[in-house]
Amino acid sequence: MRHGRFQPLYLWTLLLLLTGGTMTAADQAGPATGQTRPTGFSAATWSWEQEFEAKLNAEVRADSCRDHLRFLTDRPHVAGTPGNFRVSQYIFDRFREYGLETEFFEYEVLLAYPEEIRVEIVAPERVELARPEPVDPRDPHTDVGADPVAHLPWNAYAANADLEAPVVYANYGRPEDFSRLGEMGVEVKGKIVLLRYFQGYRGGKSFEAEQRGVAGILVYSDPMEDGYFQGDAWPEGPWGPLGHFQRGANVYDFLIPGDPLTPGWASTPEARRIALEESRILPRIPMVPLSARDAEEILRRLRGPAVPKGWQGALPLTYHVGDGSLRVHLLNKQRRVPTKIRNVIGKIRGRDFPDEVVLLSNHHDAWVYGAVDPASGTASMLELARVLGQLAQEDYGPRRTLVFGSWDAEEYTLTGSTEWGEQFAEELRQGAIACLNVDASTSGPDFSIGASPLLRRLVIEATQAVADPQTGQPVYERWVQAGADASVRSYVTAGGVAAGPTIGRLGSGSDYTVFFNYLGIPSLDMIFDGPYGVYHSVYDNFYWMEHFGDPGFRFHAAMTRLWGVMAVRLANADLLPFDPAAYAEAINTYVEELKGETTPEFFARHLAPIQAEARSLGEAARRAESHWQDWLAQPKAHRDSLAQANHRLREFERNLTHADGLPERPWFKHLLYAPLPSYQALTLPGITEALARKDLDAAAEEARRVLEAVQKARETLEEIR
Ligand SMILES: [Zn+2]
Repeated sequence: MRHGRFQPLYLWTLLLLLTGGTMTAADQAGPATGQTRPTGFSAATWSWEQEFEAKLNAEVRADSCRDHLRFLTDRPHVAGTPGNFRVSQYIFDRFREYGLETEFFEYEVLLAYPEEIRVEIVAPERVELARPEPVDPRDPHTDVGADPVAHLPWNAYAANADLEAPVVYANYGRPEDFSRLGEMGVEVKGKIVLLRYFQGYRGGKSFEAEQRGVAGILVYSDPMEDGYFQGDAWPEGPWGPLGHFQRGANVYDFLIPGDPLTPGWASTPEARRIALEESRILPRIPMVPLSARDAEEILRRLRGPAVPKGWQGALPLTYHVGDGSLRVHLLNKQRRVPTKIRNVIGKIRGRDFPDEVVLLSNHHDAWVYGAVDPASGTASMLELARVLGQLAQEDYGPRRTLVFGSWDAEEYTLTGSTEWGEQFAEELRQGAIACLNVDASTSGPDFSIGASPLLRRLVIEATQAVADPQTGQPVYERWVQAGADASVRSYVTAGGVAAGPTIGRLGSGSDYTVFFNYLGIPSLDMIFDGPYGVYHSVYDNFYWMEHFGDPGFRFHAAMTRLWGVMAVRLANADLLPFDPAAYAEAINTYVEELKGETTPEFFARHLAPIQAEARSLGEAARRAESHWQDWLAQPKAHRDSLAQANHRLREFERNLTHADGLPERPWFKHLLYAPLPSYQALTLPGITEALARKDLDAAAEEARRVLEAVQKARETLEEIR
């Protein structure tokens, strides 16, 4: 997982479609009773499904999640190292034990490992930096010994370099930050820039810096974002201590994810590899992460003008941009090596529609112990596999196939999932229903989700069926409340003032990317979120989870239930519980958001037609839904209609992709969503990027492609009759 997945400036809010969907959770274990029948179920199937879900809810155990997490986080497990092979073997063995059809899928991909990292101030005086994270006897896991992969501060794939240069403080390293320095007459070319983390993915920061001729990057964790300024720091609280640093890949996978040497095809043994120099995604400058403790040594000695408003962090000193007198020596020595990785795939075969697949997705590699990221998700996945494996043996087998994908090397370039998705692209395009991704399941109690609009109803209904472990009320209630508290974010849609919980737009930064952006499979990514300042540091470990993140492991269990309910509803419904009307509404909103980006003439000629088509799509969806109600009332008499409708609904999101992809990024095939370098979601990316370049011909062409895609989606719905 990368931070900032849905710190969304980009949100869409929900209309409350459901009436009377209230339920009372019988107890904190969360069996759901007295629910309204959810979308897509006939009365008979729903009666069976209720038994299924009651068993699922009752069977999930918090202590089982805890036991898995303890094993998974006992040793550092970076992709391609023995520690991670131990983890993938454990997952393989558990899947087998639980009765899943289990297989490894191996690939040879380019990974990177640190050999020597040095950062030192050389003028005005010599100070050694890049110190390891402090060991604390209260938590023996903080002692990682001398293992270079675990104890050095490093950013995977950052370019090798040994250089000395003056330092400039450049705030978050966003385009606007570099512009500001330009206005101040501060040159960054040939310099080392000191940046703080947050406000965008580290690869995006490097991408911006590289284009401006920066010689090297030091990126640090300011206590304003993830340390004492937010709350008590470790070991008193969940926030990062001054000595922690954030590892992570520095790579431009917002251009194309996956193995850098096989862009767009799977890294099977016989596959062609490009030369390293041909890769578009490997950075050409070095980057090293620093702790606040190390950054303070630099900031305290930086001279020159005081920083602009908004650039001051929370360290106890006045920040300056630098005057050239402070110089740093930076040595980044890594080896980029072909390395074997392995995904673990576990299947529970569907009894009625074995070729139709619901994908549950999580990765298992970490930067150190990775208790939140990703082991909390892995623990929830293993517990869900146990429960669903057992239920399948007790005659509660899913009607469609469930595939558990436990990916390797997500932390590098979303590598394991991308290679697998590329290898099985055809099968997945044919049979995949949805991808339910849980990168990290738990760092606190606050439910947070990004999703394709198609999954809106499924998400709302499932959160009404699972209890929040603290309140005993449905997860939905607390989630809506949180949205209402943050009501400044809600905005007016064409249909009026929207209310309800907030569902983020999918950007990138986790394993749904290949399924959503490349294959057009409806996807979501969810977490129970909370105060978490130790991301990608040694302190993201079992001790942290047990003391701060989820002491009773009840949110791990709640995520297991929620993930399970969503998966089995998709697997068992008579009619796929998709929401094309929500998609129509979302498209309309995205187009509306472009109003300020162009002239009224251009909007009227090229963009308004998309809105008109979205309205037709909404009407087609409502017409189709009225048929569906009739069919679900008598499912046996309408068996063929239901089968045909499911087939069309499966194609719905695929219609919104284009085989040629986006103009500058052909791998990204979805026409409505693509990641920005910050990893945030960019909607209508082709149009938006052309408008930003002021290339109106290209923008018109992109608008035409979107219009045709929306038309195709509408026609697909109209074929259901
Ligand atoms: Zn992750």
